Amino acid sequence: MKRVWIWALCLALLLGGCGGSGAARSEDVSRELFAMDTYMTLRAFGADAAVLESAEALIREIEAELSVTTESSAVYQLNETGAARFSSEAAELARRALALCAETNGALDLTVYPVVRAWGFTTGEHRVPERGELDALCAKVDHRQVQVADDGTVTLPEGFEMDLGAVTKGWLGERLCAYLRERGVESALLDLGGNVQTLGGKPDGSAWRVGVRDPDGEGLLGVVEVRDEAVVTSGGYERYFTDEDGTVYWHILDPSTGMPARNGLISVTVVGAEGLRCDGLSTALFVLGQERAAAFWRASGDFEMLLVTEDGRLLLTPGLAARFTPDAGLCYTLEVLSDVEN
Ligand code: AMP
Ligand code: MG
Repeated sequence: MKRVWIWALCLALLLGGCGGSGAARSEDVSRELFAMDTYMTLRAFGADAAVLESAEALIREIEAELSVTTESSAVYQLNETGAARFSSEAAELARRALALCAETNGALDLTVYPVVRAWGFTTGEHRVPERGELDALCAKVDHRQVQVADDGTVTLPEGFEMDLGAVTKGWLGERLCAYLRERGVESALLDLGGNVQTLGGKPDGSAWRVGVRDPDGEGLLGVVEVRDEAVVTSGGYERYFTDEDGTVYWHILDPSTGMPARNGLISVTVVGAEGLRCDGLSTALFVLGQERAAAFWRASGDFEMLLVTEDGRLLLTPGLAARFTPDAGLCYTLEVLSDVEN
């Protein structure tokens, strides 16, 4: 946990120097909290502290509805009984997330949760499940079986369970931006535990500079310039364990095999206007691997990405390359992806 704080501090320092000595700077308020199993930092300009206090209350409300481990949550009830009534916002989140599962052909699959639990990633009591156990669990992984009715009632077939964890923080970024905008805030930087959401630019009109973490160390790969966008990273380094033979198993699973996704990537960063899409895609593209991630990007064209490969390459989409400053000591080979397939 200490590492997370240090990381948050580094990010804050990196992003420091926002504003100048003008009035906007004096209105800089920030709030740190622990929610959704991660440390978050909310920073807003032109707002008073009460706005961030109520933003935190909103986060807690969303967490109480969507937590997969809190017995009183709608998601917990869904998994226990096969049906639960979601709030209209949460039902909309589920619909959008399921659409993304379909669009990624199941590389993102909200029903992979029982497999994640079998690996011990939900409790930290890690283990390597037998192939037979994984096969039985994977038989009950299929996002197409989740129904969301018009009134917000979500239903699952017998033996299925669902978790929105792969997309919740991205969506939360969107919700918080809308919330802050309604209260007159035009400039904010929300660090939701690796999911960064920006509102507007810095108070001085320049873009926010968001650090992207090096998956293979404590430093940065570089800095991206963004405005009104989310920057979301999924990486094997975030949550993993090593067995006695030294094999590393991480928390992003390939729903088709039930195994940690190993398709040549060690981290994926997605930059785009919709936090939920960026969050879901960072997970899905990690599962898909370099070739299929690039093909997906070419076909959709509504986001930018940065891929780090196991063999030491850093691949950037052209639109991101234009606003990415690599770290001075970068040990990766930089490549810009082509718009057309070679
Ligand atoms: P993220 O950190 O956003 O990449 O989300 C990863 C989390 O989502 C993991 O900790 C698991 O709980 C869950 N997860 C892992 N693999 C998948 C997958 N292929 N589809 C959906 N959720 C997943
Ligand atoms: Mg994600």
